[in-house]
Amino acid sequence: MRILIVEDEGALSRQLATALKEGGYAVDCAADGERGDFLAQTERYDAIVLDLGLPKIDGLTLLRRWRDAGVDVPVLILTARGSWHEKVQGIDGGADDYVAKPFRMEEVLARLRALIRRASGHVTTDLRCGALALDPRAAKVTVNGVPVKLTSHEFRVLSYLMHHRGRVVSQTELTDHIYAEGSDRDSNTVEVFIGRLRRKLGVPYIETVRGMGYRIEEPG
Ligand code: CA
Repeated sequence: MRILIVEDEGALSRQLATALKEGGYAVDCAADGERGDFLAQTERYDAIVLDLGLPKIDGLTLLRRWRDAGVDVPVLILTARGSWHEKVQGIDGGADDYVAKPFRMEEVLARLRALIRRASGHVTTDLRCGALALDPRAAKVTVNGVPVKLTSHEFRVLSYLMHHRGRVVSQTELTDHIYAEGSDRDSNTVEVFIGRLRRKLGVPYIETVRGMGYRIEEPG
């Protein structure tokens, strides 16, 4: 899972990025509206955190632009405390949720988890596949209740597949959703991560669909 933060306050942006990385996400940051617009329209994200007051292009304009362009990624807007008209404009402009500044990091994380979960069609907080369970809150994976230790990339691959379980996900799609922008992307490494995940999970949950990609399903 991969998230874009569009926020011009450097300290706040870094704080958010750190918390999200610890939560198991790949994170990109944009410090102005222009950069945010470029990234949102060229990269693939599972959610965007959007500040409304931004240099170059303001958040509300960006949001409307994305929705007009068919960019349907869930957007969480950051609004000024007590500014009800910002919330209303944001929701009307296509935002999926909002958090008022100053906020607690836990609240942003919880709202993002909920947005990502809903966007992938899940209503329960726990992602399960037979004995395999992924807890997005703690960024932890267990098989039969026994913790499985994963690297951050392995976790992102598994999390993406679990959010889209039952569907075939291509290597390119996985690559797009597990790396931050500018990182050394090699689609062959997805194969390596899948191989390691299979060994660590023990049970063959991840199926290779020849020429198409991977699918996670309950073995049986
Ligand atoms: Ca701002």
